[in-house]
Amino acid sequence: MNLDARTLLFSLMLTYGLSVLSLFVAAYGRNGSSKQDGMGKWAAAMLLETLVWTMIAARGALPDVLSIIVANGLKATSHALILAAIHEFQRRKAPHWQYWLPVTLTLLMVTLLVGDIKGRFIWGGLIYGFQMVLIARALLSDQEARAGRAWRLLFMGVVMIMLVLVLRAVLALSGISEIAQPQNAAPIHPVQILAYVAVMATALLGSIGFVLMVKECADREIMRLAMTDSLTRIPNRRALMEWAEHAMGRRSGLPLAILMIDVDHFKRVNDTYGHQTGDEVLRRIAELLAGRLRGPDFLGRYGGEEFCVIAPDTSREGALVLAESLRGIVDATPFATAGSETALSVSIGIALCPSNVTRELKEILAEADAALYAAKQAGRNRVVCFGMESA
Ligand code: GH3
Ligand code: MG
Ligand code: MG
Repeated sequence: MNLDARTLLFSLMLTYGLSVLSLFVAAYGRNGSSKQDGMGKWAAAMLLETLVWTMIAARGALPDVLSIIVANGLKATSHALILAAIHEFQRRKAPHWQYWLPVTLTLLMVTLLVGDIKGRFIWGGLIYGFQMVLIARALLSDQEARAGRAWRLLFMGVVMIMLVLVLRAVLALSGISEIAQPQNAAPIHPVQILAYVAVMATALLGSIGFVLMVKECADREIMRLAMTDSLTRIPNRRALMEWAEHAMGRRSGLPLAILMIDVDHFKRVNDTYGHQTGDEVLRRIAELLAGRLRGPDFLGRYGGEEFCVIAPDTSREGALVLAESLRGIVDATPFATAGSETALSVSIGIALCPSNVTRELKEILAEADAALYAAKQAGRNRVVCFGMESA
């Protein structure tokens, strides 16, 4: 392969330059506003990298102060910005020394070792390597992002840079220091080719990985919003139905119980105290119900003033006990309404789906509804199980 250093450096600058352009468009192109998701800082880091590689390419033409001291200082700053971007994305505060200490050490090191390329490779490898360890550690600690695919791209980029830093430091230690002459007209050293290719690949992997990670996070947030009831903050009907279908598909020994819960005479609350108080009461009821559930049970807002609980692996007796405890807590709680307190109650209808029977979800929901209707007919504030008399 007939590669020369200047062509590689030019490609590097172009790669970084174009990724900077795309990143700034992605970070600031969203209705002209920027979010605190790390994109702005990542774009700034890539801008610094572009400057660094331009200075390195111009080594010889530029004074050493610029092409060695300033370039290395900017490189360390860009790593610090990458770390800050990841912390901002994770909404985490990190100790400030993680940013300024490596930059200060780098400036000190290059000033002392301006004429010693071997020393710079070894000490630079150590300081930059330490920054990469901090970045890798921040990435590893993000359990949510780790579940996505973008995270792997980004982590791969960090690992590649670490490997290159180690390789260069080891080679410098063993005396092969001519690899450190990017502007050298002599045939380029294979390790240097590898280093350039790795840096170029990291620029792409890192930037695409980071943007995708931000996108995956936004997708998760949209999904969460689409599945949550905005008033009560509990799962909405869509989430409830999905979860119910899922639970029906994996039943074991005991039946699956569905509890349909409806607030008694709720219209009166609205009529007497206004809609806003009605909303407050609904919120409080959701809180009370959620606080009484057992681990595997799932509560959602089915609609209006109706809630639903899906209880897997629950016998008829278990479902009755659970429903009775939910009814009891609402019955025993005074609700704040316009400076006074009001008593409220709920009626609950239960339907069961035995594990050895294949049933449609809508059939069981209809049974729970019928049981709820029976509870209302029997005088409200009570629990009725489908196929049984009032419990
Ligand atoms: P029942 O005991 O028969 O269930 O009587 P009810 O008054 O609770 O039943 P009905 O279905 O007649 O009325 C339900 C009321 O719930 C009517 C509706 O305005 C109110 N409602 C539904 N969703 C909301 C909400 O999000 N906020 C408020 N404040 N009220 C709601
Ligand atoms: Mg109702
Ligand atoms: Mg009602």
